[in-house]
Amino acid sequence: MDLEDAIQSCWSRIDNGHVATYIPALAKVEPYQLGVSLYDLKQNNQTGAGSTKIRFAIESISKVITLLYAIEQLGMTTVAGKVETRQTGFASDTILNMEITKETKPLNPFVNSGAILMTSLIKEQDQQSPFEQLLAFTRELCNDNQITLNEEIYHSELRTGDMNRSLAYYLKAKEILQGDVPATLKTYFKQCSMMVTCEDLANLGAALANDGVAPWSGQRLVSSAAATYAKSVMMTTGLYNESGTYSVKIGVPTKSGVGGGLVSAAPNRYGIGIFSPALDQAGNSSAGLALLEVLSRELNLDIFK
Ligand code: GLN
Repeated sequence: MDLEDAIQSCWSRIDNGHVATYIPALAKVEPYQLGVSLYDLKQNNQTGAGSTKIRFAIESISKVITLLYAIEQLGMTTVAGKVETRQTGFASDTILNMEITKETKPLNPFVNSGAILMTSLIKEQDQQSPFEQLLAFTRELCNDNQITLNEEIYHSELRTGDMNRSLAYYLKAKEILQGDVPATLKTYFKQCSMMVTCEDLANLGAALANDGVAPWSGQRLVSSAAATYAKSVMMTTGLYNESGTYSVKIGVPTKSGVGGGLVSAAPNRYGIGIFSPALDQAGNSSAGLALLEVLSRELNLDIFK
């Protein structure tokens, strides 16, 4: 299929969205951008169209990486024992559900409470800070040594992240989160502020789609069980409260970030990275999801078909 045509057909959907403004540094991003990279596992190559090399903040897509890293470090049993894999029915930064229903674990690793808890599990190792370890792991999973922290976005999140702060202190007060809250939040805001490209996300998606093995090197990056777990949670909660909607419309495990990124893993077929910063009401890339829907239809990617 022609990726340029696919981009053209979805371009006008940018008008339906707005760039994220609750993190001030993200409000400055030019909305009229759309890019897609496709890693074809059969051909073992990447193709793309549009803004494939533009860097943007990974934001919530980093939650997939932290989850995988926590599983690699602590084992599946420990991680799965600390967080549920349920949908929330609330916005991703909600504190309400935990308070009302007296949850003892965050509902899943992709709501902010669950993600912050996952980050708190990463400990300093070999004199490497948790963030240094996460950055190195992200570079490996995305096959890109140029991924760096955007200091402006990080400081913007640090300054305005009071909801995340309250969530983290709530978890600490309930003895769900152990350790130092400010240090955990710094790591969390830094992981969200790593700058990636569509090509990076296509690589990440391809490794997940390929059972945890990097198709570009043949090297196993994460266990098969970790890759399967991540894809399942992406399918059920990767697109916030709209995950069910897109499970029906698109049918491919996908995770979004408020930087406008989308990563998809079509099992054994493709890794997909998409970028378009204008977001819909639920906080997902508006034109990006339209494009993913086209790809799913044209390439027959729906895993339920
Ligand atoms: N850093 C953002 C936050 O915690 C990430 C949110 C997102 O991408 N949904 O609010």
